[in-house]
Amino acid sequence: MELLKKYNKRGSWYTDYPPLGLWEQKVSDEEYKTALTEFSVSSGDKPVFLYIHYPFCPKQCYYCMCFSEVSRSHKKSQEFLNHNGREVDMLNKLFEKNSFKPNIRKIHYGGGSPSWLNQEEFDILDEQVSRLADKSNLEEIAIEVDPRTVTPEMMRHYHEKGINRISFGVQDFDPEVQKAINRIQPYEMVERLMSPEMRKLFNRGFNFDIIYGMPKQTVESFRKTIQQCIELSPDRLGVCILGWRPDIFKHQQKINESDLPNFEESTEMQLESMEMLLAAGYERIGIDHYAKPDEDLAVTKRQDKLHRSAMGYNPGDCVDMIGLGPSAMNRMQNYYFQKEYNIRRYNELVDAGKFPVFRGYKLNKDEQIRRDIMEKIICYDRIDFDEIEKRYGINFKEHFEYELNSFGELIQDGIIELSDRELTVTPTGTLFHRHVCTVFDELLRKGKGYKHARDSA
Ligand code: SF4
Repeated sequence: MELLKKYNKRGSWYTDYPPLGLWEQKVSDEEYKTALTEFSVSSGDKPVFLYIHYPFCPKQCYYCMCFSEVSRSHKKSQEFLNHNGREVDMLNKLFEKNSFKPNIRKIHYGGGSPSWLNQEEFDILDEQVSRLADKSNLEEIAIEVDPRTVTPEMMRHYHEKGINRISFGVQDFDPEVQKAINRIQPYEMVERLMSPEMRKLFNRGFNFDIIYGMPKQTVESFRKTIQQCIELSPDRLGVCILGWRPDIFKHQQKINESDLPNFEESTEMQLESMEMLLAAGYERIGIDHYAKPDEDLAVTKRQDKLHRSAMGYNPGDCVDMIGLGPSAMNRMQNYYFQKEYNIRRYNELVDAGKFPVFRGYKLNKDEQIRRDIMEKIICYDRIDFDEIEKRYGINFKEHFEYELNSFGELIQDGIIELSDRELTVTPTGTLFHRHVCTVFDELLRKGKGYKHARDSA
């Protein structure tokens, strides 16, 4: 607890490096096309992840940290689909010009609330996606589901369309907490969607998102929520802290700050939930993720085939990602891009035949090495100097002399251990991944301070 208090400072989680807040704004559609062209020419048959962001939600959850807009209008869904279809066509045209067909292996429908799309709308989205991805080639199609917006019939329809993983936004089962966050979804509502029939339909599994540090949560109430999660037995769980930024997310101002648990209580929730999930047989994947031992995340972690991005932990070989929809992230080799947040502007750009990019970044070789190192820390708690030297043709100790001399305090506090040829994050240190990554953040050292992704969006 004392160490957590000592290191309790705002900072990047290094799910991407450089962090999103530092990517260049005013990136043009031409730069995005150049990156796509380079990607078409050099990525070959490498597996690609396709992410689609549907930005609307029927109701505002007060804690929300995602990019979403409240709307119950299906006219807006139609508008979204029209623009998504055009973006798919623009991508296909560019790829065809380069005689390239991306080897899309995984699709994720996120948001917002993609489960707000009705059956007819979802079928249009599915058809658009089929124009870009060969559905017979897919390992996984996942969708984020708000349990309040679906019926078992709609779940069956998802299955018919090839969806094989469901991610439920659960957050907390306590009725008082649900009232305080404006999201009423009783335990039974989720339980009904996880019946034996549903389990059979979605054979890649069920994910739960849980948040601690929420209004009206107590250590006891959160313990009960975790116990209820264990009873429902999802295959993966993300247990994250509330990102409290009412200055950025204005709807958070509807939360009474005095209802939030204090640092000690939130920390107890974090540590106790970890103990409970481990005792229930889950494996801790990293910062905030847990999975059953036979689940992809746990298996690929053992096989050294795990990655981490803004989308969370990602098992397997899909590192590059094409993102569609407002605010969607793209990662193509040494390029990052993010699509426009502003939906009106997004639509205008697509109408003008342009890719609606908001910001981007081209990594130099040194930044690529640092990104790789941070991923090793976050996924494997270890940096093997020989492996990095072999991959990038550098002398690790010379290249990172400054960093290796800066670990004094983290060693003293038992967070890492340094030997001649490797850096190891200790079991205690796994709670401090981002502090270890910070040492490798040269941009931060050179004065590019921490900036929240939405500070300027
Ligand atoms: S459903 Fe998700 S994206 Fe929509 S408001 Fe709630 S938390 Fe935000």
